[in-house]
Amino acid sequence: MDGVKKNFGFGYMRLPMIGEDVDIEQTKKMVDTYLEQGFNYFDTAHGYIQGKSEKAIKTCLTDRYSRDKYILTNKLTNYFFKKEEDIRPLFEQQLEICGVDYFDYYLMHAQGAENFKYFKQCRAYETAFELKKEGKVKHVGISFHDKAEVLEQILTEYPQVEVVQIQFNYLDYEDPAVQSRKCYEVCRKHNKPVIVMEPVKGGSLVNLPEDAKKVLEDLHGGSPASYAIRFAAGFDGIEMVLSGMSTLEQMQDNLSYMKDFQPLSDTELDAVHKVTEIIRSAHLIPCTACRYCVDGCPKKISIPDLFACMNTKQIYHDWNADYYYNVVHTADGKGKASDCIKCGKCEKACPQHLEIRKLLEEVAAEFEKKDEK
Ligand code: SF4
Ligand code: SF4
Repeated sequence: MDGVKKNFGFGYMRLPMIGEDVDIEQTKKMVDTYLEQGFNYFDTAHGYIQGKSEKAIKTCLTDRYSRDKYILTNKLTNYFFKKEEDIRPLFEQQLEICGVDYFDYYLMHAQGAENFKYFKQCRAYETAFELKKEGKVKHVGISFHDKAEVLEQILTEYPQVEVVQIQFNYLDYEDPAVQSRKCYEVCRKHNKPVIVMEPVKGGSLVNLPEDAKKVLEDLHGGSPASYAIRFAAGFDGIEMVLSGMSTLEQMQDNLSYMKDFQPLSDTELDAVHKVTEIIRSAHLIPCTACRYCVDGCPKKISIPDLFACMNTKQIYHDWNADYYYNVVHTADGKGKASDCIKCGKCEKACPQHLEIRKLLEEVAAEFEKKDEK
């Protein structure tokens, strides 16, 4: 049976890197490949890769293709404005860096109870609706990370919101903190198209524990990513699935099943449920490696990398995680988990609402115990 082509967005948050810089040549190749296959949706934000994502949009996309060839989404992020008057200059700067004179979608970024209050105080929604009237934004939406009841409140107060981006993947579908299913149902109730982010949960559904990997391998189908992305794309009302691809190979893999899309069969759905149970039983830290917490940390702790080490250790119990912890992630002036001064800045930035301070204590206990002797 032939599948249909599914909308599939190029997330510009995890671009290929060479050291601290975006690998521009590989990104250009990825952009070309993606457009050649008939897709056209790009998603960035001012803070992604410390501002390098927007710049790469210009270098790799907008300088090289005419404006009608792509749809570009950008976001308004809380830490770049303090008051209403800051929003327009920031927006103009975003247009300039990206090399465009309008955004197709402008999303109120990482909305949740706290951020929503802040955005309302600064009249951020109202400003975005004005920008739409002026033609500088085609559609106003939100990206959302909180409980379904908060989403209900936002969509009730601002029915003008046109689209909602939510974290949606098979592991978070019934997760009590992320509430993918419930948030999706709120969007459906309000008739809002849904854009999916984190379909592979920041790579957690790609780098699976061995026993989970085997469950998917036994299906003799595609890659672990393919099941996660096809799961998310298979629901009604899902307008777009974003994938933050970091290599051309990942992109080619993603394109292969989105060009000719088939929703998961019942057997495949059973398999991802089994995988969910296995991952849950491993008690991994549900960090998506979005890195929103990193810039504000006064001790320069590479929080997501330390959490990844902890997860690797939980899954594989091997020395490799210790090596990475000591040599890679706490070198070059970066803090160790025990350097945390518990200021709490990171927790305010974390869309997954992780108790980072407490988790870092556990990380320190795991990796630094030998140093204490
Ligand atoms: S609480 Fe710790 S990890 Fe978080 S920002 Fe402060 S010092 Fe960094
Ligand atoms: S700890 Fe939270 S903010 Fe930091 S990378 Fe992980 S999910 Fe993102």
